[in-house]
Amino acid sequence: MADSTQLQARDTIHAGGEWRAAVSGATREILDPADAQPFAVVAEGDEKDTDVAVAAARRAFDEGPWPHTPAAERAALLRRVADLLVRDREELGLLESRDAGKTVEEGRIDIDCVADAFRYFADLIAAEAPGRVVDAGSSDIHSVVVHEPVGVCAMITPWNYPLLQASWKIAPALAAGNTFVIKPSEITPLTTVALIDLLIEAGLPAGVANIVTGPGHTVGARLAEHPDVDLVSFTGGLVSGVKVAQAAAPTVKKVALELGGKNPNVVFADACATEEGFDTAVDQALNAAFIHSGQVCSAGSRLIVEESVRERFVAELARRAEKIRLGRGTEEGVECGPLVSEQQRAKVEDYVASALSEGAVLRTGGKRPEPSAERPASGYFYEPTVLDRCHREMRVVREEVFGPVLTVETFRTEDEAVALANDTEYGLAGAVWTSDPGRARRVAGRLRHGTVWINDFHPYLPQAEWGGFGKSGVGRELGPAGLAEYRETKHVYQNLAPKPVRWFAG
Ligand code: NAD
Repeated sequence: MADSTQLQARDTIHAGGEWRAAVSGATREILDPADAQPFAVVAEGDEKDTDVAVAAARRAFDEGPWPHTPAAERAALLRRVADLLVRDREELGLLESRDAGKTVEEGRIDIDCVADAFRYFADLIAAEAPGRVVDAGSSDIHSVVVHEPVGVCAMITPWNYPLLQASWKIAPALAAGNTFVIKPSEITPLTTVALIDLLIEAGLPAGVANIVTGPGHTVGARLAEHPDVDLVSFTGGLVSGVKVAQAAAPTVKKVALELGGKNPNVVFADACATEEGFDTAVDQALNAAFIHSGQVCSAGSRLIVEESVRERFVAELARRAEKIRLGRGTEEGVECGPLVSEQQRAKVEDYVASALSEGAVLRTGGKRPEPSAERPASGYFYEPTVLDRCHREMRVVREEVFGPVLTVETFRTEDEAVALANDTEYGLAGAVWTSDPGRARRVAGRLRHGTVWINDFHPYLPQAEWGGFGKSGVGRELGPAGLAEYRETKHVYQNLAPKPVRWFAG
């Protein structure tokens, strides 16, 4: 694993059981977003490296033992991986924090969640029946439906939860008996490289796990179009997701897309009727919008609050947002790190400027913070920002900002709240805050989003499917459906007493 305290270079392309440099010899520096300084160097792969890795994965699938390894052994390996993740939790959590700019505590929690994903899919396959016997209506027929691995899986992952998003693909793919090639985000590849080391240490046969570090337009695009890839699972933005689906179409490979979100957080006045209720709803709205500086696909970036409580709610939210301690994620006590890159901060600044020009009212933030000892001037920091008086025609309300920017809209009736919350091309996640259980169920039932929280925001469970309605994606990760993505279904029909059918007389 790359040492997170000094600039370290290593070969980060793994194909057929060997670590190697890029065929071209190219490398890339990985920057710490807290100070824009390089702290690691990785191989910059391209189409040639991708072809080598896919060939290795293809061989391992067609000729290797993994697809035929009994479920109990596959489950045991996944559990060993989970144990190794727990062993390396500190180191990996710190590396994730440094690479993605999140706080080290978030980094540690990510690693716990990664281990949970491996354990969940191990438990799922260990408890499964080998097949579903179908009643064919005759004792002469034995008919069974079985599941088999899809084959070579390509995985393309984003920078906000680098290892977590990778684990939601790798754990079920391995559980199902597939081989894979993963391409992590070019700006945050380090923990995914480290995970490949752990898979090897856990005893995965050579060629099953392959990684190519490099850019999306070369490595990612080649994976999506590659004729020897059977499935591509992509997590990232809408624009890249559409390109992946288009590149994958001519080879009719399976495509799973986990894309962006524009997630409503709907707060009814009754949720704020008591001091405790008000405090909880404000606190969670803050968390929904600003954790990991809002760089979360399910961030509650649209606050939709009942008109009668708006002023008090937004004032308290802005007061607390101002107090969020911004700094280097590895620094003790820091609550929010920087944005991941200069490009990401420029995008956020552009959205805030456009919102203000369209009439939004800035309640707090809207600028880069003053530099300090824990916040170097060269880091990509941006203040948590609350934009009041927003409406759905604004670009900042319609498009995913992916930064610490919360927009505020208001409603007067339940129907209006639901209409606003559903007025998005996305449909990843949303929440409703109310003390009325009937209203909670009614509104949750009407929200067109893949996850709906009632009086909560952000939790997910490995046992429950994750994914989006609308342009938030195709398919599901986690839960039994997250395993099914990586499987083919086969019906085996056996005639125990074959006879001629004599359909043709001659
Ligand atoms: P991105 O789309 O820029 O990149 C994601 C990955 O795709 C990267 O590895 C990138 O190199 C690769 N890529 C880019 N262009 C490609 C192409 N033409 N072909 C193949 N691969 C290509 O996204 P990002 O900025 O890294 O991540 C942020 C986005 O990810 C946000 O939109 C966020 O909502 C989304 N996301 C969604 C979920 C979810 O569960 N739905 C989870 C995390 C992040």
